[in-house]
Amino acid sequence: MIDILEFTLEQLTKIFNQNYGKGRFHAQALFRDIFKQGNKKFLTSPEFLDSPRFAKALEGKIAINPGDVVKTFDEEELTKFITRLSDGLEIESVIIPMTRHNTLCISSQVGCKMGCKFCATGRMGFKRNLTISEITGQIYNARHHLGKDIKNIVFMGMGEPLDNFDNLMKAIQIINEQQGFDIALRHMTLSTVGLIPGIEKLAKMKMPGLRLAISINAPNNTIRSRIMPINTRFPLAALKKSLVDFPLAKRGIFLFEYILIKGLNDSKAHADMLADFITPLPVRLNLIAYNRIEGLEYDSPCDREMHAFADLLSAKGIMVIKRWSRGRSVAAGCGQLGRNI
Ligand code: SF4
Repeated sequence: MIDILEFTLEQLTKIFNQNYGKGRFHAQALFRDIFKQGNKKFLTSPEFLDSPRFAKALEGKIAINPGDVVKTFDEEELTKFITRLSDGLEIESVIIPMTRHNTLCISSQVGCKMGCKFCATGRMGFKRNLTISEITGQIYNARHHLGKDIKNIVFMGMGEPLDNFDNLMKAIQIINEQQGFDIALRHMTLSTVGLIPGIEKLAKMKMPGLRLAISINAPNNTIRSRIMPINTRFPLAALKKSLVDFPLAKRGIFLFEYILIKGLNDSKAHADMLADFITPLPVRLNLIAYNRIEGLEYDSPCDREMHAFADLLSAKGIMVIKRWSRGRSVAAGCGQLGRNI
């Protein structure tokens, strides 16, 4: 059985060649029909009608397994959808409307091992890695099941993407394929808590343009280790070194995400320390107001506190974008995925 959402065009061409004596022409047709058009009756396209013996041989051998969308939640234009996987586990993905098109926030694991204290997914614990087709299937479902035009991908959903490295890299190659989903690397952002071995492996992958986001959330090791256990293994100085060594594209920047939590990481001294940590890295900082999660001790900052913290960083020459994360009522805001599962 060929689980088509797990294959690059190159791999499919090779299989067609080795097993059926056919090649890229038919592989491209299949990619176009399935990835671009969501056509499940692909064997009726002209390329296969002209090769009836080959079409017959393929019957029942191509599977499309993106998982079943079992629930959607809407808030204004934002849509969160829950996919049930073949073993009954469920994952969440979020479609975020931007000015001209949509961004899809993709999950890479069921649950997460990283245990960040402010995060609903972290509280679920870790169940398993997603397969390649369960990652790419989220785009298939967003485009062809929900009919949304997806142009940007952020790997910021459930799980730590670099902890599912091999499947994620293969999924990125498939998502990037021009004959298929055709999403450029520069339109994909991978967000990590700072898993240094993963950052180092990524540095060797030669994926120019793929954007790297670091979920930083604290200005020093004391606070970071308290809310992000990963920091005890990979403290800030080591993280900074891995970023200094990272081969950014020309004029490339890192995205830093800083969830502002009232009374924890929001003082003037914290802003000063954060600015020192960032300098001289090329960084755009997304300052995100913490979304309160029931049962967790943390609190959201008010608008004034958000503006004040952002102003302190801007005064130090840091590029800051303030975000009041959308989707609070459907638990699709930052750090909230997993609350409905
Ligand atoms: S913030 Fe990300 S890495 Fe941390 S527990 Fe949540 S999903 Fe995992």
